[in-house]
Amino acid sequence: MTKDTVYDIAIIGGGISSCVFASTHLKNGFKGRIAIIENGRNLGGRSNTRNSLINRGWKLNHGAPNFNICNNTNNQFLKTFIKELLDSKIIESDSSELIELYGDPREDSQISSYFHSGQSYISSSSMSDLAHKIISLNNLRNQVDYFFQTLIIKLNYKNNIWFLTSRNGYTFKTKLLVCSSNLILHNRSLDILKVNQIPLRKAIPINYDNKIDKIINLLHEQDYVQRLTFLIYTKSHYCYKDNYMNKSRYFILNNLLEKKFIFERIIFQKQINNKLGIVLHTKNVDFINEYLQSKNKEKFNNISIEKFNQIFDQNPYINKLIDYQDISIMIWRASQPSGLRIPENLQVCENYNIAFCGDWFDFEGFGRIEGAILSALNLSYKIS
Ligand SMILES: Cc1cc2nc3c(=O)[nH]c(=O)nc-3n(C[C@H](O)[C@H](O)[C@H](O)COP(=O)(O)OP(=O)(O)OC[C@H]3O[C@@H](n4cnc5c(N)ncnc54)[C@H](O)[C@@H]3O)c2cc1C
Repeated sequence: MTKDTVYDIAIIGGGISSCVFASTHLKNGFKGRIAIIENGRNLGGRSNTRNSLINRGWKLNHGAPNFNICNNTNNQFLKTFIKELLDSKIIESDSSELIELYGDPREDSQISSYFHSGQSYISSSSMSDLAHKIISLNNLRNQVDYFFQTLIIKLNYKNNIWFLTSRNGYTFKTKLLVCSSNLILHNRSLDILKVNQIPLRKAIPINYDNKIDKIINLLHEQDYVQRLTFLIYTKSHYCYKDNYMNKSRYFILNNLLEKKFIFERIIFQKQINNKLGIVLHTKNVDFINEYLQSKNKEKFNNISIEKFNQIFDQNPYINKLIDYQDISIMIWRASQPSGLRIPENLQVCENYNIAFCGDWFDFEGFGRIEGAILSALNLSYKIS
């Protein structure tokens, strides 16, 4: 990129919705240049993989470990897209075992199957590879430029061109701006980006455009579920009690157990070096707040191991965890949108050459990968 480069499309964010949008748009014959600008070090967003620098060789999916498609409305775009990923062996049907853990079934037998209903798919490699491969599928003429570790904090629209300024001082110019995250439209941007006004509001003042006013107002009513994930790197001798061979194994706790032990899901992920990675997911608000406020973060490692061993005490498949190689913790301040869903007719704002995609729109799979994919497929067809 030179300082005069004007992109045809710049996408803020490099999560699944961004990658699906870019790939589909290229497949549909788009000839221009695309910039993907991502704050993180890699593609994937909330469906990313931790490639630990300290624990070399380990790949742990620390956000979404797989994805499920319900597709009750029989969406043809989605069906074709999933078939394309299956045919090119980028994904496969997830035949991993899903085990539901109950406390006392007489008291509570409800398991939240939100992430596991319908048909589940798993990346043939890791979740961040999935995002890369989705773009590579159709980026045959190298039309996409990537900018990582680049956080956009300021937007400006002048003479039909968008100017995006990053915290590290770059300016990107583009004819069409696609926001795959709603951070720069949402109140939480004030805190996270350390700005004094929501960036999109600053670029397009109130009463200039009806659609922009609506989307910003509606987002005031959209909230986020926080999550925290513990990533446990086990030692080489740690294994299952049985000879389970598949790549992953999911344990879901019912409501009673989740309340008692804090964790909602525990996912075992087999590594190339044959070691077992374990990811514990929690959305317990009190626990997360306690973690955020605590000066002694180390103590939470012990808490997680203690709870893990209590959960699997007497379990026929899982051994007690006596020691481990390492633990790291990932905090997801906005793991999933909740509350109001943004209507899909607000995805494109023609007056300002700006469009939006992501799991925060009102598609089937709101707050999940399915919703992120659907919003991206829909956007590409809307603007082609
Ligand atoms: C712990 C966890 C577990 C989950 N489990 C599941 C599951 O089992 N199944 C499922 O279907 N879904 C699951 N989800 C939800 C799923 O991950 C999301 O629905 C999906 O990844 C959303 O994709 P997206 O492209 O819409 O957004 P994102 O993945 O959030 O992508 C947006 C990207 O934009 C970047 N960005 C934002 N603002 C800026 C800026 N100003 N400048 C530069 N970059 C910016 C962000 O860094 C991010 O990478 C889970 C999420 C979490 C966190």
